[in-house]
Amino acid sequence: MIQLSGVRYRYETMVMAYDLTVERGSLVTVIGPSGAGKSTLLNLIAGFDRPQAGRVLIDGQDMTDRRPAARPITMLFQDHNLFGHLTVRQNVGLGIHPGLRLTRPDEAAIEEALARVGLAGFAGRRPWQLSGGERQRVALARSLVRHRPVLLLDEPFAALGPAQRRSMIGLVEDLRTDAGFTVVMVTHQTDDLHRVSGRAIFLEDGSIVADAPTRQMLTNPPHPAVAAYLGL
Ligand code: ADP
Ligand code: MG
Repeated sequence: MIQLSGVRYRYETMVMAYDLTVERGSLVTVIGPSGAGKSTLLNLIAGFDRPQAGRVLIDGQDMTDRRPAARPITMLFQDHNLFGHLTVRQNVGLGIHPGLRLTRPDEAAIEEALARVGLAGFAGRRPWQLSGGERQRVALARSLVRHRPVLLLDEPFAALGPAQRRSMIGLVEDLRTDAGFTVVMVTHQTDDLHRVSGRAIFLEDGSIVADAPTRQMLTNPPHPAVAAYLGL
C-alpha cells in the first residue's frame, strides 16, 4: 500500500534515507529516539516534506509530486487536530466537505462515524467540552468519513493516560480491521505495543536500522540499538 524507494531527505546536516514497504491493511509501528526522523518519515508519506531523491508510491501510484490534500492519507497529530470554534459534527463534516455544505446523507455518515468511535450524542459539543481522548476520537471519526485508506499517526495518544491510550490503540486496531485502513503509527510508549499486531520499525539517525514483528522487536530486539533504547 505504501512504498518508499530510495527516498532521501536532508535537513541541514541531518540526512535521512528510507526504503520501506507497508502491506495493505497492516499496522506498522515506528519507534526510536527523539530526533531519529520518525515525524519526517510520516511527513514524506503525507507530502508535507518532499524528498530530494527517490519515489513515494501509495496504492501503486506515484505520489512524489502530489500535494498532501491530493494523497489518499489522513494524518493525526498529538494535538490540534480539531478546530476549536466548530462543533464535533462540523469538525467531522470537514472530512466530507471543506465548506461544510453537508447533505442529509452526509449528516447520517457523520452520526455513524461518531457512533463507531464511541461518541454517539457528542455531535453538538465543542472541542473544549471533550477530554483529550474524546478529541482524538473525533479526529478518527473524521478520518472514517474521508474514506482515505492510509492513516498516519504521529504520537497521537502521547498526552493520554495509560488506560485511555490502550483503549485508543484498540480502536485504531478495530478501524484497521473493519475499514481496511493501512496504519503507520509513531509512538514512544512501547509498553502499549505488547498487544498490537503487525511489525515495528526502529529508526536511528535518519534510517531504519531494525524491522521486525512488533512482539519480537520488544522482547528479543534484532539490533543492539533497539535494546539500548528499550533499556533492556
Ligand atoms: P522525530 O520525530 O524522530 O523526533 P524528526 O523527524 O522530527 O524526528 O526530526 C529528525 C531530524 O530532522 C531532527 O534532527 C530535526 O531537527 C530535523 N528536522 C527535520 N525537518 C525539520 C524542520 N522542518 N525543522 C527543523 N528541524 C527539522
Ligand atoms: Mg516526531
